[in-house]
Amino acid sequence: MINIQKIRADFPILNQKINGKELIYFDNAATSQTPQIVIDKISNYYLGYNSNIHRGVHFLSQKATEAYENARKTIQLHFNASRPYEIIFTSGATHSINIIALGYTKILKKGDEIIISEMEHHSNIVPWQMLCERTGAILKIAPINEDGVLVLDKFKSMCSKKTKLVVITHVSNALGTVNPIESILSISHSFNAKVIIDGAQAAPHFKIDFQALDIDYYVASSHKLYGPTGVGMLYGKERLLNELSLYHGGGEMIHQVTFKKTTYAELPHKFEPGTPNIAGVIGFGEAINYTNSIGLNNINSYEKELMEYATKELDKIKDLKIYGKAKDKTAIISFNIGKLHPYDLGAILDKFGIAVRTGHHCAQPIIDYYKIPGTIRVSFSFYNTKEEIDIMVDSLIRATKMLQ
Ligand SMILES: *Cc1c(COP(=O)(O)O)cnc(C)c1O
Repeated sequence: MINIQKIRADFPILNQKINGKELIYFDNAATSQTPQIVIDKISNYYLGYNSNIHRGVHFLSQKATEAYENARKTIQLHFNASRPYEIIFTSGATHSINIIALGYTKILKKGDEIIISEMEHHSNIVPWQMLCERTGAILKIAPINEDGVLVLDKFKSMCSKKTKLVVITHVSNALGTVNPIESILSISHSFNAKVIIDGAQAAPHFKIDFQALDIDYYVASSHKLYGPTGVGMLYGKERLLNELSLYHGGGEMIHQVTFKKTTYAELPHKFEPGTPNIAGVIGFGEAINYTNSIGLNNINSYEKELMEYATKELDKIKDLKIYGKAKDKTAIISFNIGKLHPYDLGAILDKFGIAVRTGHHCAQPIIDYYKIPGTIRVSFSFYNTKEEIDIMVDSLIRATKMLQ
């Protein structure tokens, strides 16, 4: 069960007024808020043991190294990866995807095929287009239907011996659709294709078991998971990570450097050159501990309740149309009201202290699919309440009247 009062007290940022109104934060799919315990963990690092890792013999460096590697262990256990070094720290999901795409530059050949879905975030489109340009591989797009659901049969019929990579978001950031990754994995694996899963919108909402699902690659961002910005993770099976070519060089990634030849360090260090975001990684680990202290099952069922309530209340507004009607959804609702421009509605909501996202949500192909200028997206977290949803619905009705 969720103790909403206690939880809201964990997030000091929620307790403030915007334009004279209590802040209502419904932009969690863009960035989630950070609990005090994570902020403390980060400031304690800077107050007590700020130091470079893996290098110094001194006390502070050892303490920082231990905290950094503990975060890796926490994340490994949370997702049930088989080894800690299969978790690589990056600057975010975008960075993680680019590491994989660059890593395939020497593996893919002209005419090989990469399948991505029509509901991907730009971060999970552009790196694959660039990989195709470098290698002559061909990008194929698996379509969605009117409900914003991947057409699995079409996807299956696109797979062949030529398919080398299948790239799919676990949850759509624009629509909230949860993709059937078990089926996608088993279909792709039957063609010997590797699957890259973008978990940026899934990891905050439900439990994922890398080994049980036989996941090849999985990426996520800390800042959507109640942690700090500028840090994320890349998971890959050990064997697959070791096949990737390295994307950039520097200190801390090497075994031995001479001007004749450099040999590289083992996993995970060869993918973490230079000084990483040490405070960020430590904060990321603490954010995972925090969500586990509440329980992802509790989070998931409470967020579902919020989503169902909001869907029902929003549906009462005249001319409101919701995009994305998948049966399996996370707490994201994208909509428009009549012909009103989403930006205008969003700007009025802001005057009422309500933070929502408007536009194409970095997923322009979806917006093109529906032939609309964009949507208003509200995305809930376990610190939101039904009272906040009521205020938003009232505010939308007032905004609609103001704009007509
Ligand atoms: C936010 C997001 C990304 C990019 O994450 P960054 O943290 O900005 O790198 C990629 N995919 C999806 C589905 C996202 O929601």
